[in-house]
Amino acid sequence: MARVAGKVAIVSGAANGIGKATAQLLAKEGAKVVIGDLKEEDGQKAVAEIKNAGGEAAFVKLNVTDEAAWKAAIEQTLKLYGRLDIAVNNAGIAYSGSVESTSLEDWRRVQSINLDGVFLGTQTAIEAMKKSGGGSIVNLSSIEGLIGDPMLAAYNASKGGVRLFTKSAALHCAKSGYKIRVNSVHPGYIWTPMVAGLTKEDAAARQKLVDLHPIGHLGEPNDIAYGILYLASDESKFVTGSELVIDGGYTA
Ligand code: NAD
Repeated sequence: MARVAGKVAIVSGAANGIGKATAQLLAKEGAKVVIGDLKEEDGQKAVAEIKNAGGEAAFVKLNVTDEAAWKAAIEQTLKLYGRLDIAVNNAGIAYSGSVESTSLEDWRRVQSINLDGVFLGTQTAIEAMKKSGGGSIVNLSSIEGLIGDPMLAAYNASKGGVRLFTKSAALHCAKSGYKIRVNSVHPGYIWTPMVAGLTKEDAAARQKLVDLHPIGHLGEPNDIAYGILYLASDESKFVTGSELVIDGGYTA
């Protein structure tokens, strides 16, 4: 039996990396998946790959910082598939800078995509899920939402914000009797375009990252997608306001 059979999901930032792996896995496990991303060409490619594998998917152009775009994306999802059961707020950007070297402009850009994007995605998903009788929202934080890094001032702040915002939303939904669960996922370093960009394909820089993970290697997008699948499915029906750390022992 497929693990999310008959459910409808939206995954932000699903044209690449962790989001793409998540969309593919949710579709393989029976969900109809809407891929929301800025990058239309990559997003359409991801949709085609899901369809070629026998799954059901559609692309919507979405900038997660834009409230109107979120409303339109959810409306499109409801029009296409009639309901919303799963929302994965995955879109995010990396930014390297200390408290002294980060400009206010860069700080705001990071908070806008990584934190405002998760807030808007959660708020709009709740509205749709109330009509569908419940659902599961999964927000992508990071190990950098659990521990500090001197060169990740803005990123640390955004991902720490996602962690506690998730708990606030989870408590609100539970206490309101909505049957909507909200959880966060905290990956260690995963080999995606984001991390390739950080290390600029530099073998020594990559090895430095590997050495931070006691398990001896970086993660793969599917390592995170399987955790998200669990939180998205009814297997986790007693799990809300929790934080799932998938980091090869980085923060152990
Ligand atoms: P990625 O850069 O490989 O892919 C991110 C996707 O998000 C891209 O398709 C991009 O077009 C999209 N995106 C960016 N800004 C957007 C916006 N404003 N609106 C809509 N889409 C937008 O990233 P990834 O490595 O797959 O990371 C996914 C999530 O996981 C992020 O939130 C990231 O912070 C988090 N994360 C990643 C790692 C890692 O090591 N890769 C570790 C911890 C947490």
